[in-house]
Amino acid sequence: MRGGSTSIRGCLLPTRPLPPFLRLEAANGWAASTRQTMARPSPGSLPPRIAEGARKHGATIHQNCAARGLDITNGQVSGVVTEKGLIRTSAVLCAAGAWASAFLRMHAVSLPQASVRQTTLRTAPAPDFGGAIYTSDGALTRRIDGSYTIAASGRATLEITPQGIRYVRPFLPMFIKRLKAVEIGIGRSFFEGPQTLGRWHLDRPTPFERIRVLDPAPDKRMIATIMTRIRALFPAIADAGIVSSWGGHIDFTPDAVPVISAVDSIGGVFVAAGCSGHGFGAGPGIGHLAADLVAGDAASVDPTPFRMSRFTDRSQIEVGAF
Ligand SMILES: Cc1cc2nc3c(=O)[nH]c(=O)nc-3n(C[C@H](O)[C@H](O)[C@H](O)COP(=O)(O)OP(=O)(O)OC[C@H]3O[C@@H](n4cnc5c(N)ncnc54)[C@H](O)[C@@H]3O)c2cc1C
Repeated sequence: MRGGSTSIRGCLLPTRPLPPFLRLEAANGWAASTRQTMARPSPGSLPPRIAEGARKHGATIHQNCAARGLDITNGQVSGVVTEKGLIRTSAVLCAAGAWASAFLRMHAVSLPQASVRQTTLRTAPAPDFGGAIYTSDGALTRRIDGSYTIAASGRATLEITPQGIRYVRPFLPMFIKRLKAVEIGIGRSFFEGPQTLGRWHLDRPTPFERIRVLDPAPDKRMIATIMTRIRALFPAIADAGIVSSWGGHIDFTPDAVPVISAVDSIGGVFVAAGCSGHGFGAGPGIGHLAADLVAGDAASVDPTPFRMSRFTDRSQIEVGAF
């Protein structure tokens, strides 16, 4: 498909079964809802389960070990330089979330990517109003312990950053479409984090080591907004009270469709990033297609809408549903 509008949800349902460790409904981190119409993830317990499954398939996992950059020989990747040394390899998948564009920029690869800051909170266990509720005011997900995770629908903070300025043109259609949903500001993201345009040396600590976890402080005003909205909708849930809150960056591509693609300019390098707010749900499909590409297998879904070159080959970019 060239240039047409697409959406994450419609395109990432593999035609072949997922490998066993990605059949998430079977993992302990998920609980089937009472109506069996959806599964409810427990974000804290799911990644360890996936890691455990990956290990069984031969993966080795290195935590607290930032990838500083790529080792490239004659246009072909020959290794990854990490803070703990070089890992020799002929294939690399960059799945660095909101950091993907910054990581690739060091190797003259341009990935248009922007982030908005989002705040979410968790209540204490509350009366059951359903597993997943979405209204124009709020999105509520009931957790396994009966508490609710709540975010304000369509509200986020867009911080002006050097990377944002660099990619203002490809993001203009999305910006216009989502203008009412974002609050624009300037904050720390201008000076630190994935959206600055700084450079680093592979033999010295990098921004990935300075900010190991990209978790900005939750926005107190946003928490108050969420609670006002929820109190009007579900007073019993608001009455349960807030147990915790957290902030995060949601990374986007200009058309709100992930990039799952080879990097044309460096042999052996692939990208799976730009999940545009759906990476938790679409992650298994994204990972499956990325694995197909890296392994050179027949692709489980048509990879064309996810190719990186759509931003440079004069395709018409339309903002997908998200
Ligand atoms: C508040 C909030 C609510 C959300 N709600 C939903 C939802 O309801 N449903 C949904 O589907 N999605 C949701 N999302 C979006 C979802 O979390 C993301 O789309 C998803 O996490 C993106 O996955 P990823 O693997 O691309 O990136 P990440 O989850 O960010 O993973 C990338 C990882 O790479 C690491 N990394 C980066 N650079 C390096 C490096 N150089 N070396 C080593 N490691 C590196 C990072 O530390 C990180 O651990 C939400 C996001 C936020 C912030």
